[in-house]
Amino acid sequence: MFLSDVERTETIKACRHCPMCNVADRVAQLVCRESYGPRGRGAILFAIDQGLLDWDETIADIMYTTQNDGLIQEWCVGNYDHEELVLDARAKLFEKGLAPEGVVKFIEGIRAGQSKGLSPEEILSKAKITAEPNADILLFCGCGPRESEAETILETSRIFDRVGIKFQVLSEEPCCGWPLYQLGDLEGAKEFSVNVAKKIKDSGASTVVVLDADCYRMLLTRNGRFGGDLKGIKVVPIVSLLEEWIDSGQLKVTQKISDSVTYHDPCAFARYCEEIDSPRKILNMILDGELKEMDRTGRLANCCGAGGMLPIHRPDLANKAALLRLEEAQATGASILATGCPRCQSTLTRATSSGAHKGLRITNLVRLVAIAAGLVE
Ligand code: SF4
Repeated sequence: MFLSDVERTETIKACRHCPMCNVADRVAQLVCRESYGPRGRGAILFAIDQGLLDWDETIADIMYTTQNDGLIQEWCVGNYDHEELVLDARAKLFEKGLAPEGVVKFIEGIRAGQSKGLSPEEILSKAKITAEPNADILLFCGCGPRESEAETILETSRIFDRVGIKFQVLSEEPCCGWPLYQLGDLEGAKEFSVNVAKKIKDSGASTVVVLDADCYRMLLTRNGRFGGDLKGIKVVPIVSLLEEWIDSGQLKVTQKISDSVTYHDPCAFARYCEEIDSPRKILNMILDGELKEMDRTGRLANCCGAGGMLPIHRPDLANKAALLRLEEAQATGASILATGCPRCQSTLTRATSSGAHKGLRITNLVRLVAIAAGLVE
């Protein structure tokens, strides 16, 4: 959808002979099969276009077994958008009824409105926090945080309260459509984009503050292209707001954090939205010592394992990719691994359940800010 026919053909022609970004495809390395890497996918799509191969379940498995996190394009000297090529292939597979069963079930669940999470209002009211209907700022929590990182929502609301800024939430917050876009259900992504934009517009807020990195990318760069109308509404990630508040003194740092900290860049923030400096500026203001950077950071950071919705089709590989990222974090000697996205936080935390990486605590940057501001212990 986001590649023209010419761009798609050019990308396939380039990738089918090229081994250059193979090292950036962590999942292809884990699978150890050429067909699961960028060159393999290019060759398969070329063969389909030439009528030498037809779409089938094996090809579906290949196209859904990737993090599709933007790192490949970072490595590509030709700047080919291989990730969008994969999404185009997934859309074709989904349309033909060839997407893997688990993927289809997941999509059906989203379309049916199934969500394990509470609504933002329910999460806040359990902690006796009341949002302000009609406030000018709307906090968009996202399905991921509502399902598994509700603490981040509460900590964010406590920070808003400390700064003295009112915010509202959507009583029935819909999915932004990101998972549908990633998994090939483009019609669903369109419907959800239009719906979420309407709900945001109807709220009357002029600014939407987003907690999840993928929701942020979706609302900022994809919503309008899927037909949503967010014109006139400012969309900002929570990290840039936190940076502004600490820097201006609106949010006072009362106790600097003495633990050693490293930072994981969420792909959607760092590669697609250039949100690389804000988290580091925040950490510089709230840490006692210096941030311990991993070898791969910013635009070249390795994925946490959740990219491209990989955990839906291959949770085993997503977990292995997460363990590799944890190793990189542990190599810095830090005791805390902070990230700016609740989805990365959940994926990395799940991977620590095996007992590996003892001594490394995974947390959200919002929590560190809340601790530094004396709002939580
Ligand atoms: S994305 Fe670029 S570097 Fe990777 S296989 Fe295609 S042409 Fe080569």
